[in-house]
Amino acid sequence: MAKFLVILDVDSTLIENEVIELLAARSGSESEVTEITNRAMNGELDFEQSLRARVATLAGLPVSVIDESRRDIRVTHGARELIATVVAAGGRVGAVSGGFHELLDPLAQELGLDYARANRLEVVDGKLTGRLTGAVIDAQAKADALREWAIDSGTPLSATVAVGDGANDLEMMKVAALSVGITAKPIVRATADVHIDTRDLSALLPLLGLRG
Ligand SMILES: [Mg+2]
Repeated sequence: MAKFLVILDVDSTLIENEVIELLAARSGSESEVTEITNRAMNGELDFEQSLRARVATLAGLPVSVIDESRRDIRVTHGARELIATVVAAGGRVGAVSGGFHELLDPLAQELGLDYARANRLEVVDGKLTGRLTGAVIDAQAKADALREWAIDSGTPLSATVAVGDGANDLEMMKVAALSVGITAKPIVRATADVHIDTRDLSALLPLLGLRG
């Protein structure tokens, strides 16, 4: 039985970046993506609509932009220490993302994550189509991933921790025994059991009794 199961959001939690912005920077659609994000924040679009609209701006980009964008990813300070310490203590760590498997999977492997789930970009003839394939990872899908991984790892929900920064993380935070915001949006800050004000994921370790 795993001692803990820690589930991390990816964009602006496990990493410092928002991967859609890295991709948009290469398609010249940054301002369009920012406008869509703002409309979503104003409640004009739900998460899935805004995700699909942002991904649509990537249509026609060669798949090589994925590898190029990966080089710009910066792992959040303390993430490696958090993951290594939880794993060494017999726990498991997973990442669930409203971003994309194509960028998350190599990172998950590098960091030694036990689980990773994200959206998938559709590629035809070596180019992004601007569409997704498969189920959209929204707030509910993040909560479902936490439950599924808890069962898979033999971790009771009472030993689960969800870490995130955005509204999309609130459902998994409700399911987890301990919810942790990191430099989070006000709604998450107000809801999370604990909030980390610095960009240092190792600050989670004392909360798990694993340091200090
Ligand atoms: Mg995030």
